[in-house]
Amino acid sequence: MTNTMTIRRPRFTTHADGTDATLTIHEIIGSGDGPTVGISASIHGNEPTGTEIILELFRLLQSTPIRGRLMLLPVANPRAYAVNHRFTPIDELNLNREFPGDPRGNYTQQLAAAITREFLEVIDVHLDFHSGTDRPTVDYVYLWNDEALSRSFGSTVLYRPQPSREGTTFSGTTKVVTLDRRNIPVVVVELGGGIVDQKPYVKRGIAGLLNMLRQLGVMEGDVIPPPPQTVVKGIKTIRPTQAGLLETMAPPLGQVIHKGQLLGRVVSPYTFETLEEIPTPYDNGIMILSHLSRNLVESGDYGYMVGDLDGAET
Ligand SMILES: [Zn+2]
Repeated sequence: MTNTMTIRRPRFTTHADGTDATLTIHEIIGSGDGPTVGISASIHGNEPTGTEIILELFRLLQSTPIRGRLMLLPVANPRAYAVNHRFTPIDELNLNREFPGDPRGNYTQQLAAAITREFLEVIDVHLDFHSGTDRPTVDYVYLWNDEALSRSFGSTVLYRPQPSREGTTFSGTTKVVTLDRRNIPVVVVELGGGIVDQKPYVKRGIAGLLNMLRQLGVMEGDVIPPPPQTVVKGIKTIRPTQAGLLETMAPPLGQVIHKGQLLGRVVSPYTFETLEEIPTPYDNGIMILSHLSRNLVESGDYGYMVGDLDGAET
């Protein structure tokens, strides 16, 4: 028995170049009963690794029967994705801060309202993929409201945030759309990015996604138990205060870094002097986001993210 696969392109407004503004949603219906699982990526247009992971899932679904229904939203913010930009170019707003949106609001709010109506309100579980951009690389999973499902993705570092984040899809789905009505499970994956080969991240992403789908009963097969995992409750984002070439000196992602070690340094590409040395913020930290190649940064760009191991669950 194979899946029924259809593509829907609901229109929510027009663009000034005469084209329709649409969402692109794949609906995949399996043969037996099961939940409706929504999988989205590229809510931030310059975090494209999740879109590749959904592409690989789509290919697998040609020959892998499912139970229930999948709704794939591979590119949540098409205008931002097209120009590799975090925000919507039309109004420079962060889509992930505008949920549940407003059909009479600005463009990004109209987009958010369309995603809420066509996607968030019809799903039972939401799996949302973010990544690093074409500079930093990231590797962790948010632990929001479904611990077992979040852990089943298989990342070694998870983050239990302290509530709440106004306007993210999480508050959009739980507070406004579902917390009062449905309270659906949400897993937010942060994986990949950087000027490095994305294949290993896509491979890990599809493996983790398939494991979550087995956990949800959408796919057949045994759930692979997660590796030893660290759950941090505090994360610090460290931004360079000087522009230049950022050279990382920190250990790889997922590894421990202690007070006194440097995360990296900013070197002038003109004079070659060291403009800034960037220390790690915690006595005992774990690497969550880093620059894996020598990257040009502006002052204030994403530099590093370090999780606090003191008070973490291991
Ligand atoms: Zn993001």
